[in-house]
Amino acid sequence: MPRIARHERKIESGVPFVLNSARHERGVLPVARFTALLLLLTTPVYAALADLPRRVNSESFISARRVMIERDLRGRGIKDQKLLAAMAALPRHLFVPEQLRASAYDDRPLAIGEGQTISQPYIVAFMTELLRLKPSDKVLEIGTGSGYQTAVLAELVAAVYSIEILPSLSERAKKVLDSLGYKNFELKVGDGFYGWDERGPFDAILVTAAAPKIPEPLWRQLREGGYLVMPLGEERQTQRLIRARKSAGQPVIEDFSAVLFVPLRGAIEKPSR
Ligand code: SAH
Repeated sequence: MPRIARHERKIESGVPFVLNSARHERGVLPVARFTALLLLLTTPVYAALADLPRRVNSESFISARRVMIERDLRGRGIKDQKLLAAMAALPRHLFVPEQLRASAYDDRPLAIGEGQTISQPYIVAFMTELLRLKPSDKVLEIGTGSGYQTAVLAELVAAVYSIEILPSLSERAKKVLDSLGYKNFELKVGDGFYGWDERGPFDAILVTAAAPKIPEPLWRQLREGGYLVMPLGEERQTQRLIRARKSAGQPVIEDFSAVLFVPLRGAIEKPSR
């Protein structure tokens, strides 16, 4: 039987906030319009104009990201400096659909299509911190989704392997990760229940979809002493965020908090399991 240690840590619901981009852009836009006018008289006009909205946007995203780091992560107990630096630098808005970019740094999950979600920043940070990563680690992620968590991991460890069951999400994630220049990751389309035997064993495993129990193949692919973090529980019921450490082959489980994740699909749903 796994030993259970309780580490209750209450997760408050995300506090939605409004980006200060409206105020910000009001000041910037007249200048931008004037600059655009000037640029019209010069060359190369088109390249400069194409760059303008991106620059205006990136300034408001930077301030939203700062709020996310200070209030939603550091302010709620995230301490890992490398993790905070990674999330402070990562353009989360590029991982969400275009129409949701203004909300990309709110501390709440967002829809990324196909009925799936990108986890809220605090949960991404909390789960990552629980993995106790080292720079030399090789990590397996189940549920690539938007690829945001994959990028956070890629900033911190030597190699990340991530499996996604929906091809369209995996393809989009790959494009974003490639465009940001990451080289230390590999994505696979498939059922994460089976893990990635050829790339294992892994120093840490992160499952970002909920299941009633730890998939056995994943447990086998975890290195002795390694951590597996996942939401344990049924769909639409309260799930528990757990961390299982492999100790002499056996799981030592710590229970952290109530969470709500989309379910792990595929083999684990079959009644025979
Ligand atoms: N880590 C993601 C959040 C993903 S939400 C991010 O940062 O955006 C969970 C993801 O798990 C969804 O994209 C869903 O399609 C995927 N998923 C569900 N069942 C799966 C399975 N059996 N194998 C791999 N991925 C699965």
